[in-house]
Amino acid sequence: MTKSQLDLTKLKDKVKILAIDSGAALVGIGSQERLKDAPPSADMSYSLPGAKSCIIWAYSNSMDAIEKFFSKKDRMGVKYLKYFAYSTAWKTAEKIAKLIEQNSDYKAHPVIPNYKYRKVEGNRFDQIQEDKGHPDFSLRYGAVAAGLGHLGWSGNLVTKEFGGSCYLGGVITTAPLEPDPMAEKNYCNRCKICVKACTAGFFHETEEENEYPVVIGGYKQTYAKREINARCGFTCMGIIGVSEDGTWGTWASNHICTKNDSDDHWRDPEYRKSLWEELTISNKTPLKLRNKAKQIIKSFAAGVQAENAGFHSLRDMNPRCGNCSYICVKDHKKRLELLKMLENSGKVYIDDAGKEYVEKINENGEKVVYYPPTQEEYFDNI
Ligand code: SF4
Ligand code: SF4
Repeated sequence: MTKSQLDLTKLKDKVKILAIDSGAALVGIGSQERLKDAPPSADMSYSLPGAKSCIIWAYSNSMDAIEKFFSKKDRMGVKYLKYFAYSTAWKTAEKIAKLIEQNSDYKAHPVIPNYKYRKVEGNRFDQIQEDKGHPDFSLRYGAVAAGLGHLGWSGNLVTKEFGGSCYLGGVITTAPLEPDPMAEKNYCNRCKICVKACTAGFFHETEEENEYPVVIGGYKQTYAKREINARCGFTCMGIIGVSEDGTWGTWASNHICTKNDSDDHWRDPEYRKSLWEELTISNKTPLKLRNKAKQIIKSFAAGVQAENAGFHSLRDMNPRCGNCSYICVKDHKKRLELLKMLENSGKVYIDDAGKEYVEKINENGEKVVYYPPTQEEYFDNI
């Protein structure tokens, strides 16, 4: 039996429909040619020799979920969305790759949406903490090549339609699909709200990244100079995170701010080791916070060990930061509003039973204490 052969235009239409039908708000086609001057993780042939095109799509965040996340009402809406986006991105990538291979003689490769890094010699965890954890294929670079937007100051993709508050999925293929036009304008307005929302000091407020140029389709992407990955890691995972003045935090219960630490400090493996020990073993940290840190690490590791965010369970997917991406919504005024919500959101604590609660000062200057919903309680209230 011979395969039914779709012409390239029909194939392009069909893969786009599949992405949109999975819930994606945007989809585009990029080419290896446009990525030829970009860093190694833009090289499709690492995953699929002879690959010529990428199909990249994006799922947007919900404003309601983001507002609740930043005001610390609950983090469950963002949790569900993140789970939906990663698991659906992966399932859809598999479907699209199958569709291409079943309807043409071209090869296709589903891109893992996150947690998959290229193998190099040495300890993978150390490499991710440093700067050597490069994905098999960068969906952000692919998205720029596919016309979805450009890199913003945070280094995240910023789209015209919903800013940078989104999740990406993708497939690479040997099919020479007609690329969509690149985005004409960069919709990052350099507001630097992403920098203000980051308690880890991962990227610079004024200094641009020049050592690691990203050129896509002949257009140089400008973005902030980034510090060592581990600076984001501890905070993004949710083990630590508080503002410089100590008045508001991420969804972490250990209130340590690393914003003003020097990068040299972080580059020292001994420093990172002693911080891990302090946060998880040392008596300097209260037992309930050490237990929380261990629980967070275990949940995070469950996804990372699978090397595919699409397999990370809902229970183990627990966004506690992600601020730089979530806050970058399309409307500048709304970004400022979200920052204000974050600055007035107080801090998360852990009670003796290990449950998270929030303490904040309300608009009347009174202290307010409440327990945001757990995963189970969130279900009950829907
Ligand atoms: S928050 Fe502002 S500066 Fe940061 S990436 Fe978004 S638009 Fe650019
Ligand atoms: S995820 Fe959080 S800690 Fe990491 S860079 Fe973004 S805001 Fe900073």
